[in-house]
Amino acid sequence: MGFPEENVLKAIQEYGDENVDELTDALLTYAEVEEMSETKDENINTNDDDNLYSLSSDDEDKPNYSNVLQYLINMDFSREEAAKALERCGEDASVEEVVNYICAAQMARQFDDFFAQQDKKELITNSKKRRVYNEPQRRKRKPNTAMANDELIRLPNPMTGFGVPNEPGIMTKRPVPIPDVARGPPYFYYENVAMASKGAWAKISSQLYDIMPEFVDSMYLSAAAMRRGYVHNLPIDKRYQIQPPPHYTIQEAFPVTKRWWPTWDERLKLNCLGTFLGSATLTNRLREKLEKHDGEPPESVQKEVLKDCRKWNLVWVGKNKLAPLEPDEIEKLLGFPEDHTRGGGLSRTERFKSLGNSFQVDTVAYHFSVLKPLFPNGINVLSLFTGIGGGEVALHRLNIRMNVVVSVESSDANRNILRSYWAQTDQKGTLREFTDVSKLDKHTIERLMDEYGGFDLVIGRSPCKNREGDHSYLFFEYCRILETVRSKSADMRRR
Ligand code: SAH
Repeated sequence: MGFPEENVLKAIQEYGDENVDELTDALLTYAEVEEMSETKDENINTNDDDNLYSLSSDDEDKPNYSNVLQYLINMDFSREEAAKALERCGEDASVEEVVNYICAAQMARQFDDFFAQQDKKELITNSKKRRVYNEPQRRKRKPNTAMANDELIRLPNPMTGFGVPNEPGIMTKRPVPIPDVARGPPYFYYENVAMASKGAWAKISSQLYDIMPEFVDSMYLSAAAMRRGYVHNLPIDKRYQIQPPPHYTIQEAFPVTKRWWPTWDERLKLNCLGTFLGSATLTNRLREKLEKHDGEPPESVQKEVLKDCRKWNLVWVGKNKLAPLEPDEIEKLLGFPEDHTRGGGLSRTERFKSLGNSFQVDTVAYHFSVLKPLFPNGINVLSLFTGIGGGEVALHRLNIRMNVVVSVESSDANRNILRSYWAQTDQKGTLREFTDVSKLDKHTIERLMDEYGGFDLVIGRSPCKNREGDHSYLFFEYCRILETVRSKSADMRRR
């Protein structure tokens, strides 16, 4: 078939030699990647910050696959990684989903490196400590870890976790109980993208007392799909939704779009919301494509347009006119108050970025609702990687009093957002800010706990790699801090 021998060997190593279709796909991908690298970077605007998260106009006439591929490469992902992720996520996947997938795969690899580098002694002590309670310990390393880690976890379908509102058959008990050692308080809540590899989830879970992740798609709680896994030790019985309930469909959330929404676009929910945007040129191209036809466009055109709509999360804002979501629309879909990220010196790009990494508030609030009766006198929160404060907004919207929030967040912009949000609420408690989780040492944590009487809830989500470099090791910072809080809490209870 004329593929270079080197590529054939590589593909066989990765996919085995049994499935010819898979092999051919892999080889075609390699070829495409190589072709892309030859034309690389010529037409991508890498330096203009405002274009960082939008598709550069010069790419427009290329086929969509290459477009997205180049776009990912422009974000500093390797060609091979990007091509593979695109292939795995499927043609209709949103750019955000593909990026999430790459991040998760990177995370899995980082876990291996991390463990390889760790002081073995410390690890042995830790794992011995936990082995008493946990059955599945870290498995023996398979010969090809990269491949083993790439294997996707079988995600539940429908992705309704341990129950979502308004769906029959809500669970009141976890399918696998929380081991005694991990029971709260203090409670903890850790989020990560669902589409991580098996390896990554196994490792996250094994570091968090082997608690089974709760996989939830936010489409059951809002008008946007967002698939996440949550490892937490919260009770699950008697959860409730914040009121008023959210809008469940795009058309309910944005009624003005109804007028322009064609019947052949059957989307009711938006795809994961992201830091990535379709550009004006893209939407213009779609408009031109649609305008060529009087009335309903032929099915082939509909299909093409819908693919871009899904990929770039476009909504109808006029006749034949599509547009990406605006930051305030994303705020709404994520359950934040209007203008949460607006002003205070934040650029549009920064708003998109902060929103794209955030929690979906309705989802998190549903999980946190069980805390309300447990803490009638208010709650002490340690919030790691706070971002724009999705966790805090969820607690506030549940009318849970926060006696103190110790927030650790490195971005000035995000800290400003939370600070001004805090000032707007009638929360009487203290907001205490730190900037770097790796600098939050044992002594500082213990001192804070003495000062405030301990923490009741530790919230976190480790950041994903983007231009700032690789952050996966930060997951271990979450674990370290959690462990310190839990052991200090036990000491405090004994006293
Ligand atoms: N759950 C949050 C979003 C978390 S995204 C929300 O609802 O908004 C992860 C956050 O970690 C980002 O905001 C990033 O700025 C921050 N971060 C990255 N490195 C950090 C570090 N070393 N210490 C503290 N925060 C960090």
